[in-house]
Amino acid sequence: MPVLVMKFGGTSVADLARVRNAAEKVKREVERGYDVIVVVSAMSGKTNELVGWVEQTSPLFDAREYDAVVSSGENVTAGLMALTLQEMDVPARSWQGWQVPLKTSSAHSAARIEAIPRANIDQKFAEGMKVAVVAGFQGISSEGRITTLGRGGSDTTAVAFAAAFDAVRCDIYTDVDGVYTTDPRIEDKARKLDRIAFEEMLELASLGAKVLQTRSVELAMRYKVKLRVLSSFEDTDENSGTLVCDEEDIVEQNVVSGVAYSRDEAKMTLISVADRPGIAAAIFGPLAKAGVNVDMIVQNISEEGRTDMTFSCPVNQVARAREAMNKTKDAGEVNFRELVADTDVAKVSVVGIGMRSHAGVASTMFDALAAEGINIRVITTSEIKISVLIDRKYMELAVQALHDAFGLENAA
Ligand code: ADP
Ligand code: ASP
Ligand code: MG
Repeated sequence: MPVLVMKFGGTSVADLARVRNAAEKVKREVERGYDVIVVVSAMSGKTNELVGWVEQTSPLFDAREYDAVVSSGENVTAGLMALTLQEMDVPARSWQGWQVPLKTSSAHSAARIEAIPRANIDQKFAEGMKVAVVAGFQGISSEGRITTLGRGGSDTTAVAFAAAFDAVRCDIYTDVDGVYTTDPRIEDKARKLDRIAFEEMLELASLGAKVLQTRSVELAMRYKVKLRVLSSFEDTDENSGTLVCDEEDIVEQNVVSGVAYSRDEAKMTLISVADRPGIAAAIFGPLAKAGVNVDMIVQNISEEGRTDMTFSCPVNQVARAREAMNKTKDAGEVNFRELVADTDVAKVSVVGIGMRSHAGVASTMFDALAAEGINIRVITTSEIKISVLIDRKYMELAVQALHDAFGLENAA
């Protein structure tokens, strides 16, 4: 039997009625002749609640126990989905990560999938089971501990299963009907894209468009998984939603395809560090070891052998970053006068593979922000994206101004 993977996000399984609605979509695919692997998220809000409990209990928590707690939301929805399908006379069974077993690295809270042995699930399919319901987001390390794949990780579970089971497609059902030129929740004029190239989706995801987890796009690209995003609240057919595909399969290409934002950024500046060879390594080595995901970096002009070093990281890693830097100061490895954290910043980015062959994207972007009186604090660029760090209060305005400036309301 051909295998189809269907993933339902948090809002799509937010209560029993929605689980039933999702199960009806699954049943329809079983009737079309597929063996289905359903991947479920926790009910919406659940993972946030669990993370909150962990942080209240232990601010610099042990990541093994964080995973033990936050993985549990998916256990509930997987069991409920299997029960709902059984009630509809669809033979279904649930699987937690360790039961598959979905094997991962030991990088707790950000584990990478290493292997998905097919034997257990294949055997059940051979015995007549029609649907394997898999708890998303979770796996098991070689030490036998439960791991999680990072926030939004159920998307990655789904794509990894699609690759392991040679699925005909991986359908990501969510609360919007596809991938848009920007988040439709903050820009009314956002347009749904029928297709988007893997590379653009990869950038948009890594720059904050949470509709797909970055790693899921990477895996789909590597294993040539046919990946689609569509609505769980509408009637859908094989043409619905947005197909994430190769660049060659897109007929009309825009210079800029989308605008992404990331609200929860922080800008940290080490004031007055020695401007000497090895200083960047001495700062960013310990930060990496402490698990701080440094994004943008600027070394400012130096005066009398001292300089300021600015970097950005997720706002919830500021405490870790501060601790790591104070340790290196105490150990005499890096001397600085002060560590200033600005936790009211956001990152806004424009993405498009057309930028490779078109000049002028940066100036259009900076003009649009200037026209709104928005000050740019840090800029970074790559071949197909430009990102700026700005005050968080201007984030939505910036997204809307850039959407307008690049004519995205007319995007195909
Ligand atoms: P799920 O719970 O189904 O995994 P998520 O909340 O993780 O859903 O992702 C879907 C959300 O992503 C949408 O509700 C939307 O607000 C947001 N989003 C951000 N950028 C985009 C975009 N470019 N296109 C579509 N949705 C986007
Ligand atoms: N429930 C997890 C989260 O909220 C995983 C997911 O939904 O993809 O991050
Ligand atoms: Mg998600």
